[in-house]
Amino acid sequence: ATPTSIMVGTGKAAENGILFKGGEYLERTHELEAIILDKTGTITKGKPEVTNFIGDEEALQLLASAEKGSEHPLAEAIVTYATEKNITFTEVDDFNAIPGHGIETMIAGKQVLVGNRKLMQEHQIYAADDAEQALIDYEVEGKTAMLIAIDGVYRGIVAVADTMKETAPQAIRELKQEGIDVIMLTGDNERTAQAIAQQAGIDQVIAQVLPEEKADQVKAIQDQGKKVAMVGDGVNDAPALATADIGIAIGTGTEVAIETADITVLGGELSLIPKAIKISHATMNNIR
Ligand code: ADP
Ligand code: MG
Repeated sequence: ATPTSIMVGTGKAAENGILFKGGEYLERTHELEAIILDKTGTITKGKPEVTNFIGDEEALQLLASAEKGSEHPLAEAIVTYATEKNITFTEVDDFNAIPGHGIETMIAGKQVLVGNRKLMQEHQIYAADDAEQALIDYEVEGKTAMLIAIDGVYRGIVAVADTMKETAPQAIRELKQEGIDVIMLTGDNERTAQAIAQQAGIDQVIAQVLPEEKADQVKAIQDQGKKVAMVGDGVNDAPALATADIGIAIGTGTEVAIETADITVLGGELSLIPKAIKISHATMNNIR
């Protein structure tokens, strides 16, 4: 393609809300063979809401107080839920976020843990059998379920659901029609990830990936000889966006993701991703 035709291509993309940082990325988009999509905030809206709570008033009070110190979208959902229930928050004396696992806090002399099975296993806390069954039930519905423990004893479950972007299934169908492999990448558990992937029409899922491992997963696909794009919104996604042949940031995402990416799609519209690919093909195929 000539420099002029590339300018026309990136201009057309920009009119549609697809911002290329340079013409070379339009050429590289033309060569893509695989696309990795982050789950939360990319495929889903990233605005989770609490759907279920099992536990007593004290468990809810300590759960909400503990999450008040976290910036995770899951924490925001829990704090909103507790506020609606008129729960009073207690000050946290010590707060530790354990990436990919949950949080460890001290509140009024009590140790409060909130997180996934891995977090509980590391503290040798065992939930009752009916709790494990409840977790599974929530997860097959695509919810993220977290366990609560106070002073080393299991005390409850909180489940959170995030709605899928309306345009996600259609966008994923179009990507597949373009011959692109579509893969979902998430820190969430396998069962929840599979449920969301199924709703979205994605059959390749990489779940339970720690934030620092996301870039390694991109590299593993490149090592199969594929040109790959990573689509993400979070601070966690930045190393993976940088590693990928093309990094695509969701415009509603964090500043760090947008700065690191080669392309930004405005408004978080997933349909803009197959659109970008179509524009790249039209540009590169028509004018040689
Ligand atoms: P994602 O890819 O969805 O952003 P993360 O790597 O941030 O996932 O988190 C993975 C898992 O760790 C969550 O699904 C949750 O079980 C647990 N977790 C993370 N942060 C918190 C928190 N603030 N409170 C409770 N659990 C958490
Ligand atoms: Mg995300």
